[in-house]
Amino acid sequence: MSELAAARRIVVKVGSALLVGPDGAAHSAWLADFAADLARLRARGQQVLIVSSGAVALGRRRLSLGRRALTLPEKQAAAAAGQSALMRAWEEALEPLGITCAQVLLTRDDTEVRRRWLNARATVETLLSLGVVPVVNENDTVVTEEIRVGDNDRLSARVAQLVGAEALVLLSDVEGLFTADPRRDPTATLIARVPRLTPQIEAMAGGANSAAGVGTGGMATKLAAARIAQAAGCATVITLGTRPSPLAAVEAGAAATVVEAATSPKAAYKAWIAGSLAPAGALVIDSGAAMAVRRGKSLLAAGVRAVEGQFDKGDAVAIRDETGREIGRGLIRYVADHARRICGLQSAAIEPELGYTSGPMVHADDLALAAHAEAAG
Ligand code: GLU
Repeated sequence: MSELAAARRIVVKVGSALLVGPDGAAHSAWLADFAADLARLRARGQQVLIVSSGAVALGRRRLSLGRRALTLPEKQAAAAAGQSALMRAWEEALEPLGITCAQVLLTRDDTEVRRRWLNARATVETLLSLGVVPVVNENDTVVTEEIRVGDNDRLSARVAQLVGAEALVLLSDVEGLFTADPRRDPTATLIARVPRLTPQIEAMAGGANSAAGVGTGGMATKLAAARIAQAAGCATVITLGTRPSPLAAVEAGAAATVVEAATSPKAAYKAWIAGSLAPAGALVIDSGAAMAVRRGKSLLAAGVRAVEGQFDKGDAVAIRDETGREIGRGLIRYVADHARRICGLQSAAIEPELGYTSGPMVHADDLALAAHAEAAG
C-alpha cells in the first residue's frame, strides 16, 4: 500500500471506540502506541493531522450521564465537558515523544463558507509549519442540527480537503469494505482497492453493512467521506485501528480498503477555483503582471490597473489583461474597497495605506490560469 508512504500530508481519523473504554475512561495504552506510530511518520518528514472523536464519550462519564441516549443539547454538554479530557489524553500521549499538539474545533460552516475556510486553513497551515500536530474535532458547543457535520468521518474528509492532504486514514473497528456483511455472510470478501466509487460499491456499504462499527459513522459515512476525499485528490484508507501500530501495520500489508484519489490535491483545488465559483469581481492587470502570473507567480497590487465589482476577502475574482482577455481566476486577499485603495501600489506601501497587509492581491497557490494562458506561459 503505497499511498501512505508517499503522502506529504496525512489526516488520521480516530473513532471514539478506539479512544474510550467501556468504563468511559481514555485508553492510554492505545494512545501511547498510536503516538509512536505517528512519530514514525513525522520522522520521515510527513505532516500529520488527527481528527479525534471521544469528547461525548469522555464527557458522559464526567457528567454521570450513564449509557442512555442523549438529546442534542445533552450531547453538546457532554462534548464540552469531555473535550478538555480528550485533549489532555492526546497531550499525555504525544508530549513524551516531544510532539506538541493543538486543539482545532470546526463546524461545517468553517469548511464551506470561503472566508472562514481561508481563515481555518491559514491557522492549520501555521500550526503545521511550526511542527505541531493539529487535533481536530467538531465544535459541538456551537453547532445546530443544520450546521453540524454530524460525524467525524465526513469532518476528516473536509479537513483533508482543507489542507490538501494526499492520504486520509479512517481508523475504526472494521477492517475495511466487504462485499457483504462479514458477520452474517461467510462468503464476504474484503475489497482491497477501489479506483472509483461506483453505485455498486456504494450499495455494498448500504443495508446491514451500513451500521458496521460502533461509532457514529458506519460504512456508509466512511464511503461518503471517501467520496469527498477522492474528488479532493486524497486517497482514503479504511482499516482496523485496534491492532498495535495500525499505520505501520497497514503499510506492511495488513488488511485495508484503499479508495484511490481521482486527481491531485493541487489540481482539485485549482479546478474548484476555476470552475465552481462565480467570480464576484475582476482585476485588470498590466502586461508585466500578466507575464508574471502566466509564469506561476503571485499577482501583486503593483500590477493591478483597475478593480471591478464588489467582493469580500476570499471571494473568487476574474483576472483580465488590458485587452479584456481572461487570464485566470483567483481568490482575492482583500475586500473590494481595500483592493481599490492599494491598486498600483508597491508591496511596501500597502501597510501604510491600509494599516495591515495580506500580501499579494492573489497568491499563486490560489490562482488558476485559463487553459489558453497556461499554454502561452
Ligand atoms: N464530535 C464527536 C465527539 O467528539 C464525535 C462524532 C463522531 O465520532 O463521528 O464525541
